[in-house]
Amino acid sequence: MGESLTVAVASGKGGTGKTSLATSLARVASAQYERVAYLDCDVEEPNGHIFLPATLERKEIIHVEVPEIDQEKCDYCGYCAQICAFNALAILPGAPLVFANLCHSCAGCWTLCPQKAIRVGKRGIGVVETGHLGHMEFWQGRLDPGVATSPPLIDALQKRGLGPGINILDAPPGTSCPVVRTVERADFVLLVTEPTPFGRHDLELAAAMVRQMGLPAGVVINRSSGDDGIIEDFCRQSGLPLLGRLPWERRVAEGYAAGLCAVEVMPRWRPLFLDWLQRIREIVAGRGGEGSAGNCGAER
Ligand code: SF4
Ligand code: SF4
Repeated sequence: MGESLTVAVASGKGGTGKTSLATSLARVASAQYERVAYLDCDVEEPNGHIFLPATLERKEIIHVEVPEIDQEKCDYCGYCAQICAFNALAILPGAPLVFANLCHSCAGCWTLCPQKAIRVGKRGIGVVETGHLGHMEFWQGRLDPGVATSPPLIDALQKRGLGPGINILDAPPGTSCPVVRTVERADFVLLVTEPTPFGRHDLELAAAMVRQMGLPAGVVINRSSGDDGIIEDFCRQSGLPLLGRLPWERRVAEGYAAGLCAVEVMPRWRPLFLDWLQRIREIVAGRGGEGSAGNCGAER
């Protein structure tokens, strides 16, 4: 397949089974498509490797730029500390202090220092690791403990791992900066939810985020009870296509605890995942866009 498709699997919160679905999607796609890459973008707590036990072959330390103050040139004017929006600098008399873990590498201080007293240094924030599981490419980022900003590592991971074919991005939970950074390169966001009031609430937040970003999205209900009206109503009201649902299965929960993703426990679900991928390709190609929200509740 020559075309490229990047699908981010996201959920408004943790615990919806997002990683089990994302890894299932990657497994099913890799049996069908020439190049499939799975990227675990939940860099603060990557756990995709539990379900995709890839052999890791390469590791790269990722650095960000941070200021280094030359005390010979600094006159302690304090200007850099005033302009730093992240409180990463403090200038005490005779003692400029850099709190590198707070720095967002905005370049403001070394660009604007009147004395040109700030050099651009670098600080390691984590690693990007890659390997293979069969012919599937596996990528993950791991943020170092104590590092406050994960988006630069997510950025580095995606720059290295995204390629032609199918890319599956496993997003962090929530709707904050790391999720935004994960989904912004996606062609489509697959929102995983569960049919509960909490599930709907978090889905509403996630749907608002992707709508604001102008990204096509669709919903999959995990742990469907057969009465999914609370999510179906939201999909209908918001124009989000409901791509399908996976029923609650005790065996899947038990498999999860044993490090097995959904399709390893339930191989008969494989056609569903392939069908979702096909549907996503149609939506991205403009053949089944938001107008297909009329199919809410319909499993294909
Ligand atoms: S702006 Fe430059 S000269 Fe002024 S305190 Fe900061 S590093 Fe020193
Ligand atoms: S690069 Fe930006 S964020 Fe980092 S210390 Fe300088 S002004 Fe603050």
